[in-house]
Amino acid sequence: MPEPEFIAESPPLLAPPWDDGNAGKPRIRDVRVIRTAPEGIRLVVVKIETDEPGLYGLGCATFTQRPLAVVTALEEYLKPQIVGRAVHDIEDIWSMLAVSSYWRSGPVLNNAMSGIDMALWDIKGKLAGMPLYDLLGGRCRTAATVYVHASGDNPIEVEDHARRFMEEGFTHIRCQVAVAGAATYGVAGGLDSDDPHPAHLRLRQDAWDPHAYARALPPLFEHLRLTLGDGVELLHDIHERVPPITAIGIARALEPYQLYFLEDPLAPEDNGYFPLLRQQTSIPLAMGELYVNVNEYLPLIQGRLIDFIRVHLSDIGGITPARKIAALCEFFGVRTAWHGPGDVSPVGHAANLHLDLAVPNFGIQEAHRFGDLAQEMFPGTPDIHEGMMWANELPGLGIDIDEALAARYPYPDHPLNGAWPPVRLADGTVQRP
Ligand SMILES: [Mg+2]
Repeated sequence: MPEPEFIAESPPLLAPPWDDGNAGKPRIRDVRVIRTAPEGIRLVVVKIETDEPGLYGLGCATFTQRPLAVVTALEEYLKPQIVGRAVHDIEDIWSMLAVSSYWRSGPVLNNAMSGIDMALWDIKGKLAGMPLYDLLGGRCRTAATVYVHASGDNPIEVEDHARRFMEEGFTHIRCQVAVAGAATYGVAGGLDSDDPHPAHLRLRQDAWDPHAYARALPPLFEHLRLTLGDGVELLHDIHERVPPITAIGIARALEPYQLYFLEDPLAPEDNGYFPLLRQQTSIPLAMGELYVNVNEYLPLIQGRLIDFIRVHLSDIGGITPARKIAALCEFFGVRTAWHGPGDVSPVGHAANLHLDLAVPNFGIQEAHRFGDLAQEMFPGTPDIHEGMMWANELPGLGIDIDEALAARYPYPDHPLNGAWPPVRLADGTVQRP
């Protein structure tokens, strides 16, 4: 009995069966996955090598909570589909990979696709002899204004931290404060010195209390405005950790302090509350770093329910979908604010920066200041000074990797391979991270 047609597999194709019009152009020879952790954070970087000597590209595929799954997706599923393809056809390759699992999207597959997508844009820029921002239409601005993270155990410590940033020339500062006796998001330090997370992600080991947190915010921003004045832009990240009605209360309570934006007021699962939130407050809203499917953004953009779109580029599949989201946002008055923490590789930060420079509706860029080791490992890591992130003039993404150095910094041992420990209420109930 012949097999039903729907389970019959097609033979693997190393190149399209049609004349792809790319005769004589460079083709993908290899897709190599590089794992490294210069700052203890598990990075995944893709290097696409071509059949043209010396021509290669780099992409960020960092999903630091599930890096091994991304590595498998790349090596076992995506690489076999693109070896032999011409490097020029980025849109076709993206579209093909996106549907090749039938069930689409998700952070594992999107990160794997991002590694390939960014590397192909890097190669395209090198072929054109242009920095990527030039290839995307040219620079709209000299450099990208960034925001940095200030935190402390009380408002005075946060003020001191913010002042140090202001003295360095930073103009936009996200401020987070510890809640006495409770867990906190975004505050450096913490109770567990063995916590493998970077300081800004470190979780206190005691319970999370959403209402104590909500009550701590107005006094924090009252203090910061009184002491720092109006000459600095302040931001805050709720990190989706409170019930929707509490988020609405926080937004209203913080209105007098003129925040630049309030980030992640609601979890993606609570998107339905955005119209209610929007009707209650004029505080600028930033949302989106947890979305993994472009369709998740549409209602918020179309409904003019947010002011800044947060995108973790590699989590949606790279530059190809991100530039389309930016263009859509432009027509709805929504500005960009790409996710830029330490669990985006320097390659990913470079991709953020090229879009920041090229899109008219840029808002702000979240900054992570890499240390000397990471900068040595990734020559061309975007420079941050005068409160801004600066690109170089090199073609493509303008960044490289020292693979020998990267190999000397393997992933740290971790019982969960990088997965986050849970955040819990006092009664043990698991909360959103
Ligand atoms: Mg956030």
